[in-house]
Formats: sequence, C-alpha cells, structure tokens
Amino acid sequence: MILAESVTVLKELLKKSVGEIGFVPTMGALHKGHLSLIKESKSKTTTTVVSIFINPTQFNDPGDLKKYPRDIESDLKLLDNILSDNDIVFTPQADDLYSFENPVIPDLGNLDKVLEGKHRPGHFSGVVRVVKLLFEIIDPDRAFFGQKDFQQLVIIKEMVRRLEMKIEVTGCPTLRESTGLAMSSRNKLLTNNIRSKASIIYKTLKNHNVITDPGKICETSSAIIKTIDSIEEFRTEYFEIVNDKTLESITKESIIDPSAKYYGCIAVFAGNVRLIDNVEFSFSFAKG
Ligand code: AMP
Repeated sequence: MILAESVTVLKELLKKSVGEIGFVPTMGALHKGHLSLIKESKSKTTTTVVSIFINPTQFNDPGDLKKYPRDIESDLKLLDNILSDNDIVFTPQADDLYSFENPVIPDLGNLDKVLEGKHRPGHFSGVVRVVKLLFEIIDPDRAFFGQKDFQQLVIIKEMVRRLEMKIEVTGCPTLRESTGLAMSSRNKLLTNNIRSKASIIYKTLKNHNVITDPGKICETSSAIIKTIDSIEEFRTEYFEIVNDKTLESITKESIIDPSAKYYGCIAVFAGNVRLIDNVEFSFSFAKG
C-alpha cells in the first residue's frame, strides 16, 4: 500500500492509477467492520483508497471529538495486511483537506433533520461536507459505507443523486461481535462491565422486529426502551422505526409502503458512551 499524507500527494498518485477506484472513508480505530468494507471494495475495483480522517466538523460535542479513539499505528498494520501495493491510504490534516473545499452543500430536505440529525445538531452537515470534499478529490467509481450508520448511508446516496455525481454507493452489512453488539470504534471506550451488557441493544431489537398489528407500534417502541433502560447504566436517547427512503417515523396511523424497507433505529448511552444500531423491522398485519 502507498501512504498519502497530503491532498497533493494523493492527487499525483491517483493520476497514475488505472482501472476503477473504490473508496472507503473511515475515522480510524479500525475493526473488522471497516475491513469488511475494504474487502468489498477490493473485490469490486482495481484500486482501493482508504481514508483515515477524524473529521472535526461532524462532532457537535468537542468532548466527544477529544476522546474519540485514535490508533494510527495499529490501523496502518491492519491495512498493510489486506491492501495491495497499488492501494492507497489517505491520512490528511484538516487544514490541508479543507483548503480544497468547494463550499456548496446540497439541501437534503428532511433527511438530515431527524434521528441522529435531531439529537446531534450539525452532525450531518459536517459528514456531508467531508464526504463531498473527499469524493471531489478522489473521484471514485464506487464508495462503500456501512449499514451500521444507516442514516448516513441514506444521506450520502441522496447527496450523490442530487449532485449527479457518477459514484455508485454501496451499503455493506453491519458486522457484530459474537454477542450481537455492533462493532464500532467507540466500543473501545466501554468498560468490560458495560461492554458485556451492551449486547442487550441488538437482542432487544431482534426480539421485537416483527410487528403484527399497527396498534402495537407504540407499545413495541415502549417495550424496547423499557428493556434497555432497565439496565442501570443504560439510557435510550431515541428509538424510531423509519421508512428507508424518507426516514419518516411510522406511527399507528401510517400506511406501510410495500416498496420500502423499515428500520428500527436506536441511540443508547451505555455509561457515557453513545452507541447507535439498527435492525430491519417487518410487518405481518392480519387482513380483516
Ligand atoms: P467510522 O470510522 O465509524 O466513520 O466508519 C467508517 C465506515 O465504516 C462507515 O461507513 C461505517 O458505517 C462503517 N462501519 C462502522 N462500523 C461498522 C460495522 N460494525 N460493520 C460494517 N461497517 C461498519
């Protein structure tokens, strides 16, 4: 693999690359979830570019940015094991990267105002800024994102559509620990005690992800929150079941769109670490 620490070096390398370019943006502290995206890119393209950049503009809480896990040495070792000689690892500095910004940000309607957008104001404007900038610099044919950050994936697809970028955005499945806990860089911040209890999030979502009566949507949401919050150190910030196209939350009055998929999306404070997850929900209402 080749390391590019500046935009200028990256652009020079990309000029020489041949074939399709696949791009995997990350914030480092890499785990198997990230590696699965990289493997997918390697199987579909000729050159894979992996960026490691903790993007300051997407952190609405400076404390969260400060404590975000960083482990560049171990990241580079992991990447060296799976990348080929022509693949590129891009580790820019914020000043360098943002000096190339063309600050036109698309309007994303309601997509960035709900769920995470509601609870982390400004988060998605930072995500969209950095992904758009990276897309403009790298100009990949394909980009790979995790379903783990479901709303981010929906928003990036919409950004690409609205800006008419010629990039195929692929969503990749969430990799989980054997306990069911979704892999996340933030898991490194969990104490052993809290980590061992955090599997309750996925288990609870899976236990409730078939809804048999529209009248039970509210009851189901309450049951999920109650179960998770029964653990002393855990507090659910939100749980909503949303349509994967509009991100609109469903209620008992909603008409289920058979062409859409529905995801139960959750954010939970596990101690002082904020975890997000999502699971597909289905409806099997009795006709009558
Ligand atoms: P991050 O470094 O957290 O910004 O994540 C970089 C990319 O990896 C994003 O597209 C995430 O959705 C994806 N990702 C994070 N965790 C997982 C996981 N457990 N399984 C699959 N992809 C993931």
